[in-house]
Amino acid sequence: MTGSIFSDQLLKDLFDALPFYLMLVDEEHNILLANKAISRDLGVKPEDVVGGYCPKVVHNLEEPYPGCPLEEAVEKGHCAVEKEIYNEELGKWVKSVVYPTKLRTKEGKVIYIHMVFDITERKRAEEKLKEYASELERSNKLKDLFIDIMSHDLLNIVSIMRSMEELLLKRNASLKESREFMAIAENTERLITMIHNASKLAKLESLKNLTLEKHDLCEISRVVISTFTPLLEEKGIKIALKCCDNAIAEVNPCIEEVFSNLISNAIKYSPENTEIEVEIVDEGEHIRICVRDQGAGIPDEYKEEIFNRFRRLEGRRGGRGLGLAIVKRIVELHNGEVWVEDNSPRGSIFNVRIPRHASA
Ligand code: ADP
Repeated sequence: MTGSIFSDQLLKDLFDALPFYLMLVDEEHNILLANKAISRDLGVKPEDVVGGYCPKVVHNLEEPYPGCPLEEAVEKGHCAVEKEIYNEELGKWVKSVVYPTKLRTKEGKVIYIHMVFDITERKRAEEKLKEYASELERSNKLKDLFIDIMSHDLLNIVSIMRSMEELLLKRNASLKESREFMAIAENTERLITMIHNASKLAKLESLKNLTLEKHDLCEISRVVISTFTPLLEEKGIKIALKCCDNAIAEVNPCIEEVFSNLISNAIKYSPENTEIEVEIVDEGEHIRICVRDQGAGIPDEYKEEIFNRFRRLEGRRGGRGLGLAIVKRIVELHNGEVWVEDNSPRGSIFNVRIPRHASA
């Protein structure tokens, strides 16, 4: 080591300070040097193993075991080999690595650095993570199954209630005038919507991504608006639709839910004889959907909260606070954003901005 800052002693101290065991071995598995950690891991002194045959010293074998990394490195023409090996006897996982050096023995044999790390802790953590992931998947599947069964069974019961109401009406048409009967019928409908919404939201929440294809958002909004005609006539509300020239975007058909929830809310929370405006705005790489109403508006402190499930404004009649959570989830699955701001002079503007192309 003439001319080097490293003395032999310093090198030995450095080797001994390593927390894993390290050996220098020649290509025929003869040990040339070993550091202190070998006594901790194998219970042998470094000076006693020098000159020994590695398979014998480490594994008590007369020849290299099948899959020995050094054997593989030599066979492949002196390259580096790394392997993760489970030692059944010790119940431990190790990472065994061999790197060829430019050094040669006096006989001209290639010298390798051979290091062995204990990776048992990491492997156990990985196993735990795998178990956890599959448990999570199992419980997600169970949740889906439970939701399907529950919504199916609940809907069965509610449809029995609905047919009973129809039967009663057939027998006694004047029941339609009764406030109590109407309240039952109204609540049956609300229950049906709620069951549908709850199972829709649960399914959307466990989805990771959607298949997207090109659709014209103006066309979708036109169709959705037409489904509200009876309700609009009943409240004397008019909807104006403003569309940009190019409203084509890569979306999933479930985007229709975004329109129908926002428009349904705008109608629900607007006074009679007002106007709602639905606008599709071309923002280049993005498309913005705006739904403007002249309703009571939403106070600042609720502007974010209303997108969380079961959040409703005090004292307002309506559904059960799932519609906007569904909107938010669908928009998230489209990599978009949704927010609400004040309309002028009154009411709210619900904005949805989504990328025009799936890759964006
Ligand atoms: P809901 O079924 O209660 O309408 P949503 O999730 O659709 O549930 O809406 C959550 C709450 O946000 C509503 O209960 C209502 O208080 C408020 N909200 C939603 N849309 C509007 C709107 N256009 N104008 C005023 N308040 C609204």
